[in-house]
Amino acid sequence: MKSSADPVQNLARLIACPSVTPLEGGALTTVQSLLAPLGFSVERPVFSEDGTPDVENLYARRSGNGPHLMFAGHTDVVPVGDEAAWTYPPFSATIHNGEMYGRGAVDMKGGIACFAAAVARYLEKNDELKGSISFLITGDEEGPSINGTGKLLEWAKAKGESWDAAIVGEPTNPDTLGDMIKIGRRGSLSGTIIVRGIQGHAAYPHLADNPIRGLTMLVDSLLYPAFDKGTKNFQATNLEVTTIDVGNPAVNVIPAEASATFNVRFNDTWTDETLMAEIHNRLDKAAGRRKLRPGRKTPVNYDLVWRDRPSHVFLTHNEKLIGTLTSSVEKVTGKRPQLSTSGGTSDARFIKDYCPVVEFGLVGQTMHMVDERVSVADLETLTQIYERFIADFFA
Ligand SMILES: [Zn+2]
Repeated sequence: MKSSADPVQNLARLIACPSVTPLEGGALTTVQSLLAPLGFSVERPVFSEDGTPDVENLYARRSGNGPHLMFAGHTDVVPVGDEAAWTYPPFSATIHNGEMYGRGAVDMKGGIACFAAAVARYLEKNDELKGSISFLITGDEEGPSINGTGKLLEWAKAKGESWDAAIVGEPTNPDTLGDMIKIGRRGSLSGTIIVRGIQGHAAYPHLADNPIRGLTMLVDSLLYPAFDKGTKNFQATNLEVTTIDVGNPAVNVIPAEASATFNVRFNDTWTDETLMAEIHNRLDKAAGRRKLRPGRKTPVNYDLVWRDRPSHVFLTHNEKLIGTLTSSVEKVTGKRPQLSTSGGTSDARFIKDYCPVVEFGLVGQTMHMVDERVSVADLETLTQIYERFIADFFA
């Protein structure tokens, strides 16, 4: 057996690399050492942008005649938190009771370890690949995600790369391996509302203009009514107010300014543009109401500042990709996976602009936690699923 064919060994080597985002930590070098012996040509572009750390990435391709399948993922991991709280050191890859402990075990060095093993096994049985496989691996998924997958895709495209399908190895299964394939993701949009009033004495409110009254009405208009009831493939759009800030230390002073920040997770009823327009519309209407501002002649004086970049909602429609992966999961686990769009955003949001993309990986229960760990048996099962998928995809 080629050394890369053992997912447990692959993962132990990857976990030993302290690649806390944005550090490479030896993790991409390890991926390279798994793939180079399998005939992959490997490149390691570094991307930079003002105000963010430089990040190293990896693109590896083994070419053949036929379709091009991309496996995408990340080797960076979130910080370990309280190291003393770990049962085994977070970069030790200790195996106990059938589980391997380590930061990144499921999110998502485990997925990379399994896919590399699956390719190695496939190539042991088949001399030729009836197509091309590439690994698109970033070190910037858990960080700002500026110098990672988005730029890596642009960089590869500029070199003439194109893909027929992609699978992202993030941990998608809630409880057991085979539960869930993600075929899309909700969009995400954040903004801050800033209301300006007039500071004054709480006993003389007519001389002041309390911005909290206005802000309360504006926030209320975003919380009710619901944006939609959900769609065939998506749960209902949901807006959460994540902070309201006034910072007023005095009980008898009406403050001059108040702000509120919100995050919306939205479904395919909306695009980021239509949702932004809906939010502006609700706020403008609410700003003119008198309910909490009786007698005021002017509407609430507010600004809305959009935060970060919005993540677009997407849903993959590709029978070959979804059908092949579903049947691979079923053949190996005996379970028919649910096709879901739940959860947060992932780097699939960048890939969807280049080719159809789905996500399937390990069980996510311990991701980002102290004592992140993976069942050793699951590593073997996921490797078998990936190998089945590679065989069926290229058949
Ligand atoms: Zn991840």
